[in-house]
Amino acid sequence: MNITVVGSTNMDLVYRVPHIVKAGETLHSTQHELFFGGKGANQAVTAGQLGAEVNFIGNVGVDDFGEKVKRNLQEKRVNTTAIRTVGLTGQAIIQVADSGENSIVLFPGTNFLVSTEQIEASKEIIESSQVLLLQLEIPIPTVELAANIAQSTGVHIILNPAPAQKLSDSLLSKVSILTPNETELEVLTGLKTETDEDLLQACSLLLKKGVGAVVVTLGEKGAFYMNEQEHGRVQAKKVEVKDTTGAGDAFNGALAVAICQGKSLKDSIVYASNVASYVVTQMGAQPIFPVSVPQINTDC
Ligand code: ADP
Repeated sequence: MNITVVGSTNMDLVYRVPHIVKAGETLHSTQHELFFGGKGANQAVTAGQLGAEVNFIGNVGVDDFGEKVKRNLQEKRVNTTAIRTVGLTGQAIIQVADSGENSIVLFPGTNFLVSTEQIEASKEIIESSQVLLLQLEIPIPTVELAANIAQSTGVHIILNPAPAQKLSDSLLSKVSILTPNETELEVLTGLKTETDEDLLQACSLLLKKGVGAVVVTLGEKGAFYMNEQEHGRVQAKKVEVKDTTGAGDAFNGALAVAICQGKSLKDSIVYASNVASYVVTQMGAQPIFPVSVPQINTDC
């Protein structure tokens, strides 16, 4: 199982506050926690924790956070030889109010410096993978070049189109599995995503553009999927939710693992959904699994 992730790394700085700070106000935070984040890193860690061989192509900053981020990836079984150290580590500064409301300032830092030249330099890593896993927290030309290289060597491309934005038909046509949530699907297609009929219409539009399969994640409602042969829903497990941060990332990391293992699309979604439902029972975006991974209910 060999997966390459091209993407972002972040430090998430979480501050508990009585209310979200107003313009001009200074507020005491009552609790502070640091979490490792970034969609790319979260997805890579999930795949690594599930037993895949994972290569990460991306950046960390030259600051202390950068060193910590890289060490964390290594500890979680992610190969970091293609990581560059440049600029400042990306940060998400997150206020969580006592009401549960949150607000986020995102500083992309070094993630915006992941370059096409860097992808060229790591071309062989992509070419020798079974699956290339991509998100949109790095420059789009970099994502496009990675996809071109993967497509020309027959590597499966899973693209998690987050954060939401429109994408070129040329990029979409190279994607084997596209994994938007409802909001991202709406932005990508300009169509409504409320009912199953809406989802069908929106997914059909993407299939017409050459996407191999669309898997729409629907939070506690599970996932809707469609390819040329079939469409349907996979229900999410009912669990005691602690923190849904990174649910989508866990889903994507696990989906890549299942596709590598040669599971069918539906079975891969069942596996990804079970892993993601397990992850929402823990705090933080990067999951810690039981020592024996099969303890996660992966029946499919
Ligand atoms: P994103 O974080 O990208 O918005 P979703 O919220 O759609 O992604 O969640 C991804 C997957 O995580 C879902 O398809 C589901 O399998 C699982 N999941 C998310 N929220 C819950 C929940 N409350 N209960 C059970 N599973 C969940």
